[in-house]
Amino acid sequence: MSSRICGTCSLCCKLLPVVSLSKGANTKCQYQRYSQKGCCKVYNDTNKFPLECGVWSCRWLTKNDTEDMFRPDRVHYVIDTFPDHLTVRDDNTGEEQVWEAVQIWCDPNYPDAHRDPKLRSYLERRAKEHIIGMVRYNSYDSTIIIAPSLNKERRWIEIPNRATNWSKEQLLADAVVKQLYEEKNSDRK
Ligand code: SF4
Ligand code: SF4
Repeated sequence: MSSRICGTCSLCCKLLPVVSLSKGANTKCQYQRYSQKGCCKVYNDTNKFPLECGVWSCRWLTKNDTEDMFRPDRVHYVIDTFPDHLTVRDDNTGEEQVWEAVQIWCDPNYPDAHRDPKLRSYLERRAKEHIIGMVRYNSYDSTIIIAPSLNKERRWIEIPNRATNWSKEQLLADAVVKQLYEEKNSDRK
């Protein structure tokens, strides 16, 4: 099986935050460049190249169930190798569940890019593992994606959310939490 290379793609360098560089999400990195020599000016500089960049790759690059998908810069979204987790709480019983979410960093210039049929198929495959989708446009704006097989209406559900800050991303509005909880439980009945 042939391996993949980033080539001229550097979409992750714009869309994802890099804490050690104080680089926010959806912000071009100071070291980003567009060159056939590589898209990072400090890739070979051990003093400047961030550790988090060294240990990270998108799921397209690692072929993590993405064999049929296109390079991120062509489809305008990046599937993060690291998941997020969402705490879902039933206000009546106090019961909590932790949901895994695959993070999809979406270029705000193409806000509907997450509706790519190949990505939807990918999310349906994740749904079989009870993993939902979390589309991120920046550090604050996101949309939860619930696949048809995870809800009783058997349709794609998109729940926009605006968290007040990065640390509160898992504490979503009660209505959203309740909806998620009910949909997952009804699916089990
Ligand atoms: S988004 Fe993926 S393919 Fe594009 S530069 Fe980043 S790691 Fe490489
Ligand atoms: S340091 Fe290099 S690899 Fe890391 S975000 Fe910036 S340009 Fe990309």
